[in-house]
Amino acid sequence: CNFHEMELDDRILKAIAKQGWEKPTLIQEKAIPLLLEGKDVLIRARTGSGKTGAFAIPAIQKILNSKSVAREQAVKCLILAPSKELCHQIYTNILQLTIKCSREVTCVDISAPVDLSAQQSLLTERPDIVVATPSRALAHLKAGNIDLKKSLEVLIIDEADLVFSFGYEDELKQILRFLPRIYQATLASATLSEDVLNLKKLVLHNAVTLKL
Ligand code: AMP
Repeated sequence: CNFHEMELDDRILKAIAKQGWEKPTLIQEKAIPLLLEGKDVLIRARTGSGKTGAFAIPAIQKILNSKSVAREQAVKCLILAPSKELCHQIYTNILQLTIKCSREVTCVDISAPVDLSAQQSLLTERPDIVVATPSRALAHLKAGNIDLKKSLEVLIIDEADLVFSFGYEDELKQILRFLPRIYQATLASATLSEDVLNLKKLVLHNAVTLKL
């Protein structure tokens, strides 16, 4: 299988080529078509498997699709990860994947633990993708700096097992109250702990589980 068989926007394909990714990793080969179909997916995979591309590429594609219909600017994708280092890594990956459509698909990382007001300006432009730790996302939601109720289309939780072991469970549950009733969700986790399986029941619908 190669990326060209996946019905991806040319600008994504060019960005993938620019990174020197010749073909999808196993997890990308399995997850990308399912996510493009709109399925919820639980990915069991470790760092190094290409999991970031597996969840980010379909999210970017979905944003490009919705932009061709409506011009309205709003946060469409929320990516939660358990540490600011991981958030930064995901953000960097997304910048690389959107390098050919950086005007159409914008992304911010609000994981740095600075004053909320210092980050507010990042959110006033309503970026398409917001990457955050659960505590930062919740703080901005409570402050009214992000509104996801109407616009959110995709929720991604990366390293979901660590989200629990780092003690973010309560924040995560509170965040869910700020989300619309319907959205597509992806969970990525190195292990399928009981917490992760409970979270799966809470946020995924008719999910496909990929154990690779
Ligand atoms: P991840 O598992 O998402 O942290 O990715 C691990 C590393 O693999 C990153 O440095 C990516 O840039 C790289 N990578 C992801 N997908 C591919 C691919 N299809 N081909 C080659 N390298 C990739």
